[in-house]
Amino acid sequence: MNSIELAGVGMTSQRTRERLIQRLIDQGISSQAVLDVIRMTPRHIFLDQALSHRAYEDTALPIGYSQTLSQPYIVARMTEILLSGGPLKKVLEIGTGSGYQTTILSQLVTEVCTVERIEPLLKKATDRFRRLGLKNISAELSDGSFGWDKHAPYDGIITTAAPQTVPEELLRQMAPNGILVIPVGNGQSQDLRVLKRVGDSSEFDEEIVEKVKFVPLLGGLSR
Ligand code: SAH
Repeated sequence: MNSIELAGVGMTSQRTRERLIQRLIDQGISSQAVLDVIRMTPRHIFLDQALSHRAYEDTALPIGYSQTLSQPYIVARMTEILLSGGPLKKVLEIGTGSGYQTTILSQLVTEVCTVERIEPLLKKATDRFRRLGLKNISAELSDGSFGWDKHAPYDGIITTAAPQTVPEELLRQMAPNGILVIPVGNGQSQDLRVLKRVGDSSEFDEEIVEKVKFVPLLGGLSR
């Protein structure tokens, strides 16, 4: 990875970033690996210039097309949960958006597959992956309600847009003992759910972690 890009030269002081990390720790994020990757990753390059000065606030920010870059706390929390069972090889992300969550994941797992339904967002995100020199990401324009069959099965799946119910296809594309982290619900608030596949069976252990607020998982493509 390009260390100059990662240092985010000139944009934000190390102190501002350190303040964000301390806030995540205060909110209960305990994975050192996750905290280190968030500390090292320049969040400002995932935003339009006009908003980049707010990049290290612990808040969701608009990325256009009525979509948002998730709050750092929720990125950290979901990533920490995803990795809680040990290292993962292949992870699927539904909802590439700005590519920030993808970039965090790409530094913690072997391979990330990500799908987005809005073409201009996907294009900007893939430009960022190239700029950062990230080589373990495959990205595609598609409706993530159907997962991404081509690269299945996945050791982990993370959804950054909320469906009303867990899509069957995602369960089908999980590897034995795989983990799915997904906000489920409608409107303003959803439950963050964690489903773990029990061995290679079709049984899943399910847990509700906390209330969250994500954009809805929508069908079809937008070019
Ligand atoms: N992970 C992103 C969050 C972006 S918001 C980030 O770090 O910036 C959620 C994204 O999910 C939006 O970009 C939205 O367009 C996308 N999305 C919504 N429904 C989708 C679907 N069915 N398939 C793929 N992407 C979807």
